[in-house]
Amino acid sequence: LREDVETLTVDNVTVEFGALKALSEVSFTVRPGTVHAVIGPNGAGKSTMFNVLSGVYRATSGQVRLGDTVLTGLRPHKIAKLGVARAFQNIALSAGQSVGENLMLGRHSLTKAGFVSSGLRLPSATREGRRHGERVREIADFLELGSKFHTPVGVLSYGDQKRVEVARALCTEPRLLLLDEPVAGMNAEETERMAQAVLQIRDGLGISIVLVEHDMGMVMSIADRVTVLDFGRRIADGTPDETQADPDVIRAYLGS
Ligand code: ADP
Ligand code: MG
Repeated sequence: LREDVETLTVDNVTVEFGALKALSEVSFTVRPGTVHAVIGPNGAGKSTMFNVLSGVYRATSGQVRLGDTVLTGLRPHKIAKLGVARAFQNIALSAGQSVGENLMLGRHSLTKAGFVSSGLRLPSATREGRRHGERVREIADFLELGSKFHTPVGVLSYGDQKRVEVARALCTEPRLLLLDEPVAGMNAEETERMAQAVLQIRDGLGISIVLVEHDMGMVMSIADRVTVLDFGRRIADGTPDETQADPDVIRAYLGS
């Protein structure tokens, strides 16, 4: 049943910018509870795919579906409401506000206005506000941000800030999480921490993750399945071992 409702299907998606085909008839399937990576060299079409999945770009042709629900053509906020959350694209954290406040802002899209401040300020908090406050706290703890709950986001390390962005996306209680290059600019330790966080989200929360990523090494260690793009075309799709050994993939990465 879950398979029917939560499978993400990318079906023959083409995106044209004038004469340029950023994506050419790309298809893949993301099974519930898996980490699915979309990788490829620079210019392969990864960001374009992320923007199509999150509703920022409109596909020229083809379809994206979550279960039987067609996502293509819907506005980003509508796609978010259907349970597809994104991190790292067009959503800036509020640097002067605490981790907790930023997470409550992410939570805000779930319910009516008004509880955001009340959830954090006792004793005037409403019961609903408190409930959201507790959930936000849980999510912060889950991503090892509990000790920094009251710290302004602006003073956190880069790695911590990136995990706040992921936590904020989780605060909308998504079924599917879209991550755009989550380890870009990270050092080895931060990368490992993010990789572990992604696996915890899959295993602990049962959320599917689509990872759009340039870093092959990180992807190969955590992805259940990998789709490889090159010049807007799908050149491989399979397990990390299969795709890593694929001559077309090796050629694409060597050539870049
Ligand atoms: P990647 O993220 O894999 O590096 P992109 O999706 O950013 O690749 O880009 C794929 C191709 O589409 C590139 O040739 C890029 O220049 C082009 N492109 C991306 N976005 C736009 C846009 N908004 N307008 C015109 N061309 C674009
Ligand atoms: Mg990109």
